[in-house]
Amino acid sequence: MTPDLVIRGGTVVDGTGAAPISADVAVTGGTIAEIGRVAARGARELDAAGCLVTPGFIDIHSHSDFTLLVDPRAVSAVKQGVTLEVIGNCGFGCAPIGDPELAMDNIYGVTDAVTLSWRTIAGYFDTLTAARPAINVLTLGPNGQLRRATVGVADRPATPDELAAMTRLLEQGFDDGAFGFSTGLEYPAEVGVPESEATALCRVVARRGGLYATHTRDRDARAVEAIEEALRTAETTGVRLQISHLAPRSGEAATEQSIALVERFRARGLDVAFDMHTRRFGTTMLSAMLPPWATGARA
Ligand SMILES: [Zn+2]
Repeated sequence: MTPDLVIRGGTVVDGTGAAPISADVAVTGGTIAEIGRVAARGARELDAAGCLVTPGFIDIHSHSDFTLLVDPRAVSAVKQGVTLEVIGNCGFGCAPIGDPELAMDNIYGVTDAVTLSWRTIAGYFDTLTAARPAINVLTLGPNGQLRRATVGVADRPATPDELAAMTRLLEQGFDDGAFGFSTGLEYPAEVGVPESEATALCRVVARRGGLYATHTRDRDARAVEAIEEALRTAETTGVRLQISHLAPRSGEAATEQSIALVERFRARGLDVAFDMHTRRFGTTMLSAMLPPWATGARA
C-alpha cells in the first residue's frame, strides 16, 4: 500500500521521553502508519535529513485569541512546530462578553479588523471555526471577562449576586467547550479578587474537570507568596493547576524558591505545572503597575 506521506531520514523524538531514533515516518489517512525503515515510496516524500521529527508542540500559554481571527494562518506558531495553542490566558480573552466596550480592554491585540459579534465562548468558537485556523485551539474561560461582565472594573470583591452571575458564566463556558479557567490577578479588573472568590470559582473548575491557569497576584516582592496562594487554591479545591509564566521579577532567588514550592506541592500529590517565557524577569502592561484608581477602576 502506498503511504500518503513518508517523512524520510529524520531523527524522531516521539515525546514520550524515549531516546531519539533515526527513522522514517509513514502517514496514511491522517495517522502514523509506520515508524522505522519505510520501504514503500509515499505519494509524497519529505526529506527530513538533519531535522528532528516530533509530534506537534502544545503552546500552553498563548494570547492569540483575537489575532487568530485576523490571520488564521498562525504562521508564527506553525513555523515553531506548534499545532495546538491554549488561549484565554491571564484572565484575558474574547468571551464571554457583557459590554463590548468594556470587554475590548481585555482582549490582546484587539483592533476593528473583526467586529465582536459574539457574546459567548460558543459564539467565539463559531467565528473562529469559520475563520479556519491552521492550528488546533483550546480556550480557558478568562476571569477578566467574567468580572467585566458582572462586577465591571472595580477594586473590590464580587457581591454574592455577582459571584453567582460569574459562576453561571463560567458554567456556560464549560458547556460551550472551555478547557478551563484563567485568572490575571495582577490586572486592574482582578486585583480586587480575594482568594476566597478565586477559590469559589475554582470549585466549579474542579467539578468540571477543567484546568486552572493563573497569572499570579504579585510578581515582584511578594511573588513567592502569590504562587503559594495559587497552590493553596488548587489544594483546597482539587483543581489541576498551571502557574503561568513563573518568573518573579524580584530575581533568581525568588524563582528558585518558587520552583521548590511547586515541587513540594507536587510531592504531596497536587497536579501542578508551570510555564516560563524567554524574558528573564518578565514584562507586562504598564496598567499592572498602577493603582487601580489610576486605570479608571471604581472603588
Ligand atoms: Zn500573564
